[in-house]
Amino acid sequence: MHFTICITVFVLAVFISVLFSKFLNDGYTEKLYSQKIDGVASQLRWLGDQVAGVDFMMNDSSNSLSAQTDDLAASLDGRVIILKSNYKIIKDTHTDFQDKFFINDDILDIMNGKEERIVKEEGDYIEIMTPIYSAGKDQKQVFGAVIATVPRDDLIAASTEMEQRRNMLLVAFIIFGFAFAVVLSYFLTKDLRKIQKDVDFIASGHEDESIAEIGFYEIRKIVSRFNEILGRMQVLEDSRKEFVSNVSHELKTPMTSMKVLADSLLQQGDQVPAELYREFMSDMVAEIDRENVIISDLLSLVKLDKKASRMEITRVDINELVQIIMKRLKPLAAQRNIEFVFESFRSVTAEIDEVKLTLALSNLIENGIKYNKDNGWVRVSVNRDHKYFYIRVEDSGVGIPDDCQDRVFDRFYRVDKARSRETGGTGLGLAIAHNAVLMHRGRIKLYSKLGEGTTFVVCIPLKYNA
Ligand code: ADP
Repeated sequence: MHFTICITVFVLAVFISVLFSKFLNDGYTEKLYSQKIDGVASQLRWLGDQVAGVDFMMNDSSNSLSAQTDDLAASLDGRVIILKSNYKIIKDTHTDFQDKFFINDDILDIMNGKEERIVKEEGDYIEIMTPIYSAGKDQKQVFGAVIATVPRDDLIAASTEMEQRRNMLLVAFIIFGFAFAVVLSYFLTKDLRKIQKDVDFIASGHEDESIAEIGFYEIRKIVSRFNEILGRMQVLEDSRKEFVSNVSHELKTPMTSMKVLADSLLQQGDQVPAELYREFMSDMVAEIDRENVIISDLLSLVKLDKKASRMEITRVDINELVQIIMKRLKPLAAQRNIEFVFESFRSVTAEIDEVKLTLALSNLIENGIKYNKDNGWVRVSVNRDHKYFYIRVEDSGVGIPDDCQDRVFDRFYRVDKARSRETGGTGLGLAIAHNAVLMHRGRIKLYSKLGEGTTFVVCIPLKYNA
């Protein structure tokens, strides 16, 4: 870019300089030329008036005028010819062609009154012809013509000198133009160079840095958007790191418990009472089960996270689907004497991925049981409008504190770790439910009051749009 701006400005400067100097030179040369022609023509007209005044044509001779003509020719450094209207030369300052005839198309035009001045360039000379008008009443009567042939070497010399000056000026302009182009392009690309340096720095691994928002408005806008994207990438990277560390931690906990249990059994050698042995072994089995739950939850989440994850869309009766899920979870609710209520306001058939939606709803309803009080209730209702269907899962449970409500959908987030662990929770259930609903282009909303209960509302389009 630096180079392009430099070359463009330089070429432009050269072009303008050449154009300007040519215009100057041509104007000056033209002015000199017309000044010379006007000067000679007015002198010829003056001579013509003299000729007409003394009736030179009639007398055929006039010494004083002849001398004046010679003077004029000398001052012009050229040749002056005076013709009569019958094309006869009555004075020629160069050679004695007196009484000879001079006729050509131009003279004819002058004599016929068609032209008042004819100027012709003949090699290094200029030929100027003007008519001689009679001095009488009829001023337009042509009585003859005056022809002057004057050298134009003075014009050529002036023009050459002007051209030399012009070339010098041109060289100066080109040098100046080059310097200007270099300086201008340097300043125009200065901010871009700084931005490029920042980008290189970020690309070399400093993703947490941002780019200086400098330069022209448009560049500042681009940089600001780029910084926004960098910020988003940073958030993603942070959440990825957090996820990996959470996964390792969650997977390690059951392992550590198992190791402690196994170690203590080993330390006791052969003297382990059968009862204790059984107790430790069943604890280990419980830890293995937990490890299993975490791994299967993680696998579900990973599957839902995959962009390319396929949706197996079929038309499903939603009321029936919810009832099947509730039937499966009923024994769990019964353990704590939790009342299970199903309400259907309308029949709903929707295009969904049955496996994924079952996973989401199972997690929500199971949470309603897990985070409930004994003898509480869980109410699930199904409704729809012309575009969406709604599944509402309400419980009379412990509720979620206001400041935690935003985070419960995060992976591994648990409000009360001890309670979640007690109930076999992994902190992945709501993340799985959220992802599954999002894959259906739906939304999930949460209303909760601490100590009173929680309501999740899932809203999904009746028609799936990929
Ligand atoms: P977990 O496996 O721990 O249940 P979830 O992702 O399903 O993980 O839930 C995250 C956290 O949100 C839970 O640990 C719990 O603290 C809270 N939570 C979820 N559902 C409810 C609910 N119905 N009532 C109260 N708290 C809930």
